[in-house]
Amino acid sequence: MAKNTLHCSFCGRSRDEVKILIAGQEGHICENCVEHAQEIIQQELMIRDDNPATNSSFKLTVKKPVEIKRFLDEYVIGQDEAKKVLSVAVYNHYKRLQHKKTENEVEIEKSNIIMVGETGTGKTLLAKTIAKLLNVPFAIVDATVFTEAGYVGEDVESILTRLLQVCNYDVSAAERGIVYIDEIDKIARKGDNPSITRDVSGEGVQQGLLKLLEGTDVLVPPQGGRKHPEQKLVKINTQNILFVCGGAFDSVDKIIARRINTNAIGFNVNKDQQEAAKKNLLQFVNATDLKSFGLIPELLGRLPVVTHLNPLDKPTLRSILTDPKNSLVRQYKKLFELENIQLTLDDDVLDFMVEKAIEFKLGARGLRSIFESILTDAMFELPSSKESKFHLTLEYAKKKLDKSKMSLLKVA
Ligand code: ADP
Repeated sequence: MAKNTLHCSFCGRSRDEVKILIAGQEGHICENCVEHAQEIIQQELMIRDDNPATNSSFKLTVKKPVEIKRFLDEYVIGQDEAKKVLSVAVYNHYKRLQHKKTENEVEIEKSNIIMVGETGTGKTLLAKTIAKLLNVPFAIVDATVFTEAGYVGEDVESILTRLLQVCNYDVSAAERGIVYIDEIDKIARKGDNPSITRDVSGEGVQQGLLKLLEGTDVLVPPQGGRKHPEQKLVKINTQNILFVCGGAFDSVDKIIARRINTNAIGFNVNKDQQEAAKKNLLQFVNATDLKSFGLIPELLGRLPVVTHLNPLDKPTLRSILTDPKNSLVRQYKKLFELENIQLTLDDDVLDFMVEKAIEFKLGARGLRSIFESILTDAMFELPSSKESKFHLTLEYAKKKLDKSKMSLLKVA
């Protein structure tokens, strides 16, 4: 028989159409079918409801609220209120998880969280750090990519796909995970009258999120998206998944101001306190304000814990540079150390970086870009030199930053 009449016994492709054809006793299999079979095996083995948590690499370690906060303090500067609220909510959530419910017992409902704060103030960092401490799967998703089912964009179920992938398809681990939904404010209802036009990326998505947040069985495509229509769906129960949402809610402070003013009769505090309060109105944020902003009441009902993050002032930015366990200064020192170079810097360089971050309105996120712009040339040249020390002075920092593209950001 001619060689090219051989074919894959699974997909029927001929020898010419495939790269490898493996012979069996009575037939052949091509590389495509081997790969496909491997995927099926993985899904069948990993995605099992009885996958014992004890076998999982994600062993839940529950800590007391004070311990959680202490751990957060090592990585996140300031934001005491948010840290406290998060620590308690997360502790209660996982305590509830460990507690085996007997019949007729009070059911403790879960406490999904919503964090309100300007961009770059540490919302994602807080959620990430908690997941690290508790050793649970953690996924970050962006609310802006979702649309109502049936429209171009991602379905909300893909949130769980992300979580499944993070824990290598260990369903029981995923069912105890934490999901951080960023930019939740971007799916606010557009306009007050919902019936005029379809709002597929706003209210439609909020509706879609409801069932996920409250805790039901959701069928999830393990490889995500609508690109693999043939994939077997996996059932995930979201009852014990903690959802943390974050958003900047631009101009919500005006809504808060209006509410507070109407309630302020008899507001009996001195002028300084009033001034300080006015500067950071976000601290008074509550669910009513978020409803006025455009989140639907049903969604807010499923996000019972509301907290805020403070804007970062100069001293906070300054200590973000040096204090956290993995602060930028420590990270760059380590990078240089790996080249056997000792990096030292003058204190006024740090003050300069903080001033620039504020001037460029970049917040904490900008500190890294500023650091990078200042040190790029040094990091380019030093590995090829024989230097064993590099001292960063204010003069050098100013010169390098002025030369970099970042200086174009300068606000008039
Ligand atoms: P967002 O509030 O937009 O989610 P992130 O948490 O992503 O902000 O913060 C961006 C980066 O800024 C973080 O990776 C971290 O390096 C730094 N950062 C922001 N806020 C803090 C903070 N309070 N303490 C320490 N680092 C911070």
